[in-house]
Amino acid sequence: DYCEGGYHPVQVGETFKEGRYEVIRKLGWGHFSTVWLSRDNQCGRHVALKVVRSASHYTETALDEIKLLKRIVSANPDHPGKAHVVQLLDSFEHKGPNGTHVCMVFEVLGENLLGLIKRYKHRGIPMALVKQITKQVLLGLDYMHRECEIIHTDLKPENVLIEIGDVEQIVKTYVNNGENKNGSTGSGSDKGDRNGRRRRRTLITGSQPLPSPISTTFTHRHDDLLAQAIGGKSNSQHSLSKMMSSARGSTNGSLTVSPQGRESDDSYNSRERTADAMAREVAGITLDKSGDNESFPDIGIISVKIADLGNACWTNQHFTNDIQTRQYRSPEVFELITGDYLFDPQSGTKYGKDDDHIAQIIELLGAFPRHLCMGGKWSLEIFNRKGELRNIHRLRHWALPDVLREKYHHTPEEAKSIADMLIPMLELNPERRANAGGMSGHDFLKDAAGMEDKKVDVDVGSRGGIDGWACEVKKR
Ligand code: ADP
Ligand code: MG
Repeated sequence: DYCEGGYHPVQVGETFKEGRYEVIRKLGWGHFSTVWLSRDNQCGRHVALKVVRSASHYTETALDEIKLLKRIVSANPDHPGKAHVVQLLDSFEHKGPNGTHVCMVFEVLGENLLGLIKRYKHRGIPMALVKQITKQVLLGLDYMHRECEIIHTDLKPENVLIEIGDVEQIVKTYVNNGENKNGSTGSGSDKGDRNGRRRRRTLITGSQPLPSPISTTFTHRHDDLLAQAIGGKSNSQHSLSKMMSSARGSTNGSLTVSPQGRESDDSYNSRERTADAMAREVAGITLDKSGDNESFPDIGIISVKIADLGNACWTNQHFTNDIQTRQYRSPEVFELITGDYLFDPQSGTKYGKDDDHIAQIIELLGAFPRHLCMGGKWSLEIFNRKGELRNIHRLRHWALPDVLREKYHHTPEEAKSIADMLIPMLELNPERRANAGGMSGHDFLKDAAGMEDKKVDVDVGSRGGIDGWACEVKKR
């Protein structure tokens, strides 16, 4: 990877843009780039410097990413969602031994939401935080959709980063603590991004975020604990969808490639699987050592930002139809509340992952409208001419409010209010699906702390209106 066309071999102390940015330590890396905590000598503050691989494919994608990021910087400054999307500070090119690298400079952010989910042992995070985060993400999305005409296409916990507050103070404490001064990341495991979907570019992302102010001990121990965890116990996740799959007698947990093999995330390979199990294991060990959820300091008000525009596109110009990490082909609020995926398809001996995915959707949300199930390019592989699933016959219907009560033990009132929020966003017909701006004003979010006066001019409950994949469906 550190060859011609690959990563630039960044050194701690190295300077970029004629001495302006000075590298301090590594923050993370992706398939596409390495990201470095750096000092901006011109402005006297710290920044995150992303150095992209030099091959032309990466350079072109990075130049698209910069165009999108620039629109995010320049569109309506008065929209309350702008504060919840990552801001590009600078961009330039850097010549090195492996070629010319596009560089992007961002504000320094902290841990992502997957870290927060792990911190709560995949059992769900407190509802007050879920509401704050959800409202901020919806406002950020509404800003991207309506003001910038951008669709993110890869929204998931890994791509929502928590702000770290006083960056300069935290950098001072953290860097002076002596951790990782040499800037090496050590492990190549996938701590940042769980699903190895072959997106436009990223396959695996590693990350070493600065600690968020919530709990510095968590990340300080992370590397030791990772090493301990490599022995590898089994992944103990019990998701709703696994229960459903096993009720149908699937080979629970098997992740073989589906017969069609066209879904990129089916390339989820054993290395990523191990990393995923490992990440969960690490979360478990960390939490066991530091006590229960109760031992975390009061989290209070946090602010989050939507990040990683590397797969984003314009509402009216789509770069690829291969979008979204599979499990998130609907908003992720469910995972924050319960700690589980909403859908987590598995293949069985007689059916593929796509069959199971559609079956799980029908089990939760009811039958597909006929024009949707028959209108797809691959419809006849999944459905017969009557619109019934070809390969899966015994469905176990379990409506969302019932799942929330029976599996996750929410009260009937709570289950109803969560389901009221989620169902409009899970609408199968994309033209009738609730939009982000409208959802940000939903009753469920009215007590989101610190967000009471943040409003956009979109009717609550309004649907569609954003050019997205509805027009791809129409084209057929
Ligand atoms: P790629 O396009 O290569 O996947 P990302 O933009 O996803 O690159 O960045 C890779 C990793 O670097 C992220 O997963 C995250 O851990 C870290 N990172 C990126 N941007 C920031 C930032 N602004 N502040 C702190 N860490 C960051
Ligand atoms: Mg990434």
